[in-house]
Amino acid sequence: MTINWQQEAEKLEPQLLSDLTTLLKINSERDTDHQTKAYPLGPGPAKALEAFLTIAERDGFKTFNVDNVAGRIELGSGDEIFGLFGHVDVVPAGPGWQTDPFVPVIKDGKIYGRGTSDDKGPSIAAYYALKLIRDLGLPINKKIHFIIGTDEESEWVGIHRYLETQPAPDFGFSPDAEFPIINGEKGIASFKIDQKPIAAAPAELTLTNFSAGIRPNMVPQVATATITGDLPETFATQATAWADEAGVKLTLTLGNPTTIEVVGKGAHAQEPKDGKNAGTYLANLLADLPFDPAGKAYLLMVAKYLHNDSRGKLLGINYTDKLMGELTASPDIFTFTQDGEQSVLVNVRYPQGTDADTIRDQIETTLGADKVTVSISGHAQGPHYVPGDDPLVKTLLQTFTDHTGIPGHEQVIGGGTYGRIIKRGVAFGAQMPGQENVMHQANEYMPIKDIITAVAIYADAISRLVK
Ligand code: ZN
Ligand code: ZN
Repeated sequence: MTINWQQEAEKLEPQLLSDLTTLLKINSERDTDHQTKAYPLGPGPAKALEAFLTIAERDGFKTFNVDNVAGRIELGSGDEIFGLFGHVDVVPAGPGWQTDPFVPVIKDGKIYGRGTSDDKGPSIAAYYALKLIRDLGLPINKKIHFIIGTDEESEWVGIHRYLETQPAPDFGFSPDAEFPIINGEKGIASFKIDQKPIAAAPAELTLTNFSAGIRPNMVPQVATATITGDLPETFATQATAWADEAGVKLTLTLGNPTTIEVVGKGAHAQEPKDGKNAGTYLANLLADLPFDPAGKAYLLMVAKYLHNDSRGKLLGINYTDKLMGELTASPDIFTFTQDGEQSVLVNVRYPQGTDADTIRDQIETTLGADKVTVSISGHAQGPHYVPGDDPLVKTLLQTFTDHTGIPGHEQVIGGGTYGRIIKRGVAFGAQMPGQENVMHQANEYMPIKDIITAVAIYADAISRLVK
């Protein structure tokens, strides 16, 4: 039987858009301020999960809810389990929207709303692909488990709970990235550099406070320093000229204390070059001034070893793997007070061939064990790679090419997707090559034709993998 997948997918558009709208209307950002026993991540993520499972039950699928933090839609039977990994939580809407982020709007063939491209749109496409395979009565010789997480954007609580209590799929993909495929992901680890105490001594200036950054995986957009003492008279003029040249915004509030704010450009930590790190820029501006010993040491460390060093060369951790590419380093949280913490958190994405312990040792050696202690902060995730000759990768790339005429190729990224939760897991779609990436941004959208094409590609690919 030859199936016109595209034509079959197009028939599903009205119902698909109606179901997607139902999901988009639920604000499902992690909201632990309102957590209850029934809603450990807040009501939003659980309600979005419930709505998704209700859609599947309406269509006659068997479903399973794991403590309101993850769920499963089932199809088929067999010894092996093929998995799909989507998520229904979203990042906060944030400012800058032209429409209500939770009232989906269709304009010029695009559907706008938080979660349209990450990941409610691609997840509903994968769901309709399953429905299409079932409704066409195609052969299925494996169990298919479509696993839905509710906390992909933060701690992965849901997917971890799922894997602790439910059988892990043998192979599968996450519809939560881009085509043609993501079959490799770098390791991810954050390193906390704590400056050791330095005895105070009289100085013209005291750095009373220095702070930048809000998340360990984001290049800081804003940095602030508070200073007591008299700055050199020429400082204001020099600082303004410096800011112009550096391309950052400077706000200087002279007085005692003086506050200085620098606004750079935020970015995802997986490519620090896309941003302008306000923290390292501000330290660079201040490092030559006559500060107290602790303040001076802190500013010099940041200016000398962390400024404009996206590949970690100055830190001595740079590493390149032929397959997975370069290590990246992004100093993302800066904390300095005179009597309290004096630290920098550096987020590192590393290829195979090095590891978190080695990187920790290297940072400490470069900065000096007498001056700092370096520790791995939180849980480090190792690199993940499914070889290009794995039948999973080959089948997905071939299906993509058959549908689009675009040659497929392997891709390794610095980000982390659910693809990495099993050994033979990858990410596959649904963003098309050349399409702008609007995930996590204001006015997030997804072209409706891309959702429909994703249904066709997913249905064909899954059908090839489970028959
Ligand atoms: Zn996602
Ligand atoms: Zn996301």
